Amino acid sequence: MISTGVHASFDTAALQAADAAHFLHPFSDHTGFLEKGARVIVRGDGIYIWDSENKQILDGMSGLWCVNVGYGRTSITQAVAKQMDTLPFYNSFFHTSNVPAIELAATLTALAPPGFNKVFYTGSGSEANDTIVRMVRRYWHLQDQPARQTIISRVNAYHGSTIAGASLGGMAGMHAQMGTVLGGIVHIGQPDYVHAGQGMTQDQFGVHAAGWLEDKIRELGPENVAAFIGEPVQGAGGVIIPPATYWPEIQRICDKYGILLIADEVICGFGRLGAWFGSTVLGIRPDLIAFAKGVTSGYVPLGGVLVGDRVADVLIQQGGEFNHGFTYSGHPVACAAALENIRILVDEQLIERVAGATGPYLKGAFAALATHPLVGYADSLGMVAGLNLVRVKGATVHDNVPFDAKLGVGMICRGHMFDCGVVMRAVGERMIVAPPLVMTCAQIDEMAGRIRNALDLTLAEVKARGML
Ligand SMILES: *Cc1c(COP(=O)(O)O)cnc(C)c1O
Repeated sequence: MISTGVHASFDTAALQAADAAHFLHPFSDHTGFLEKGARVIVRGDGIYIWDSENKQILDGMSGLWCVNVGYGRTSITQAVAKQMDTLPFYNSFFHTSNVPAIELAATLTALAPPGFNKVFYTGSGSEANDTIVRMVRRYWHLQDQPARQTIISRVNAYHGSTIAGASLGGMAGMHAQMGTVLGGIVHIGQPDYVHAGQGMTQDQFGVHAAGWLEDKIRELGPENVAAFIGEPVQGAGGVIIPPATYWPEIQRICDKYGILLIADEVICGFGRLGAWFGSTVLGIRPDLIAFAKGVTSGYVPLGGVLVGDRVADVLIQQGGEFNHGFTYSGHPVACAAALENIRILVDEQLIERVAGATGPYLKGAFAALATHPLVGYADSLGMVAGLNLVRVKGATVHDNVPFDAKLGVGMICRGHMFDCGVVMRAVGERMIVAPPLVMTCAQIDEMAGRIRNALDLTLAEVKARGML
């Protein structure tokens, strides 16, 4: 039978066979599983994970952008166990509540930017964005401006995998498989300097890319536009770090036309960019904030919406009952995990450390990796970073010669990263990391060393296969 436990040994082949036979994985091409079994992860500690062959791997992606306090936090385990013993579940519908959900709501609104005094809980980031679509449309109805229906998002945005989340998102591959994308959602370009900033400085490009929002609002008619949604830094779209001028200009445009601004902080929240919320770092004053992932460091699923006063006051004072909610909204066990996770972030001053020490150190490490012959561009902010693999390096980033996308050089590189003991994600030919916030400067050096080894192996392979 399949065994578990810290020191257990595993029958990898049997696990892989059972996995391939029965487990339909998210975002995975299952034809591949039949030839090469899944990598089975069996335990974690700090910034490391181990697979069923007992290979240690440095987790450069914090699981899936979420394990901010690292693996093996027994105080979270204890908080969860205690809550399960006391009250494993009760709902928060129909005027009932529970202690962890109350305490967490007070905690989150205290940590949030000014003007946020209400939380709506969900089970995930996707559900948070679904909730936001409902709230935004209800808000404009209550404001007697029902024509304001359209939500403007961006190409390559990721806002989740439910119908509303995927529709808000700008992933062409997801839209192509959906049949009908939810109506009333349109997309503008992403602030991707490498691919769209030719002939401009970063600052010029930031204002230029924000201008696409104003163009779209004028095209639609401002009286029809409900909201703009964006990740402060696009995550799954490839860690697209916008120029410093971008978000202040987006904010100015939203203010000018009275449009609600939604920050999807599912990745950027809870310290990732060196502040509780990425909005603070990038000059965004949102009306609604979606959160999930880092709120519990992924130990237990939880998401939610921080609702700013502008929207909350209307929904509460004019709206009556909001006909929306999830069985697990305000789940006491998930909220207990979040409270302990937040206590760790505070007590260990992890967010201050990202802002003042490890974030800048990671930036330096990626600047050094940019000297590698395969790397045409590298950047970072807080604890996210990315580098672009290029065939030929030019004098500027816009003179680089890219690889033919069909060669799949990013995926080749990702394979070498695993072999060199580091998880790095490939988005096309952009290689990205989002390490746990507990990572030290010494561990950043260790990660960068593994990345450099994998880049050398990738270079050797693309040379040998005539791809250069
Ligand atoms: C992961 C993610 C989501 C979706 O969250 P789930 O918990 O997977 O539903 C939404 N927005 C962003 C920015 C994300 O990274």
